Amino acid sequence: MDISYILNEYAEDREHYYRAVSPPIVQTSNFAFEKVDDLRKSFEDEYSTWLYSRGLNPTVEILRKKLAALDNAEDCLVFNSGAAAIFAAVLANVKSGDHIVSVKGVYTWARKMFENILPRFNVTHTYIDGTDIKNFEKAIQSNTTVIYLESPNSWTFELQDLKAVAVLAKINNIITIIDNSYCSPLYQRPIELGIDLSLQTATKFIGGHSDVLGGVLCGNKKMMEKIFNSEYLTVGSGMQPFNAWLLIRGLRTLPARLERITRTTTQVIDYLKKQEWVEEVIFPFDEAFPQYELAKKQMSGICGLLTFVIKADSIDAIETFCNSLKHILMAVSWGGHESLIIPGCAGIKREAFLASSREHRMLRLYVGLEDADYLIADLEQAFKSMKSLS
Ligand SMILES: *Cc1c(COP(=O)(O)O)cnc(C)c1O
Repeated sequence: MDISYILNEYAEDREHYYRAVSPPIVQTSNFAFEKVDDLRKSFEDEYSTWLYSRGLNPTVEILRKKLAALDNAEDCLVFNSGAAAIFAAVLANVKSGDHIVSVKGVYTWARKMFENILPRFNVTHTYIDGTDIKNFEKAIQSNTTVIYLESPNSWTFELQDLKAVAVLAKINNIITIIDNSYCSPLYQRPIELGIDLSLQTATKFIGGHSDVLGGVLCGNKKMMEKIFNSEYLTVGSGMQPFNAWLLIRGLRTLPARLERITRTTTQVIDYLKKQEWVEEVIFPFDEAFPQYELAKKQMSGICGLLTFVIKADSIDAIETFCNSLKHILMAVSWGGHESLIIPGCAGIKREAFLASSREHRMLRLYVGLEDADYLIADLEQAFKSMKSLS
């Protein structure tokens, strides 16, 4: 399906709502029935009927269909956050005694699920370096039911060879789950490469304006229906109609925003690489990136998020740099209109800072929709204030 068609028309039935161009927000908790038999049928098969908005809702449905089409998946469920999508995808595929192979460096709340919640139910995990397929082979046990991927991850961007992992998993009867937030289905379609479940946060690129949270989970119809009837309805972590409407709106401009951000990111990277204070820029589409070839092979684009390592012998220098930024905001998240920065050293105690540690000197930058010159001028004055300190 053509992407323009998916984003502008697909799954929208305007004849049902006064031919309005923008779909209605069907803000209702429940749906009425005329006959007992209809109600009975709905109880028997909630996944095909409007019964209650914790399950299906017409506004949410438009979003689900568009997102499934974007991922080239049979079906999609949307959640009230990306974390909720991760939770449902993993929980649906483990039972007591099972084992998960996960790449290291995954999103914080996936990690917390593996480390803090699942061990209470006797589900164990092994973290591996996912850049080498041999590490997957070595880590798989007889009780491994899930391989959890994030390619690239959102700090240092290590990739996994998705096709190779999918083949290995199928041989061993293991479900593969990927967090595809960084690329979004516009730039990487894991299901086409053989991955079973592809999830992403909708809070970042899809929402695009830092005003809504959401999560997306795509896969085949059988798996989605199973998750709907258990984790989705039981946890009650489905998406609200208004949030779905905001995300449909976000989708309209997604390609235009990503194209713009791609251009600006390239300019910002070119600038950063010339700075005497910058030791290294980490970005998968940079020729110096160790997995550059694989990135080019399995991703059709990439933008916005990059990490740079600053040459600093004190934490004060890094803090001065960050505190001096006037337009680039210091905040978590990414994917919105506004550029953002997070220094790695915010995650450690000041006393623990080691100038020899590359991690401690990393800064993650998200390039938003501002002009490149505007952002570069902001970085420039922040580097100057850092210099005046030394
Ligand atoms: C933000 C993020 C999530 C979680 O999404 P929320 O919508 O914030 O719950 C998951 N994975 C990655 C890579 C993220 O950046």
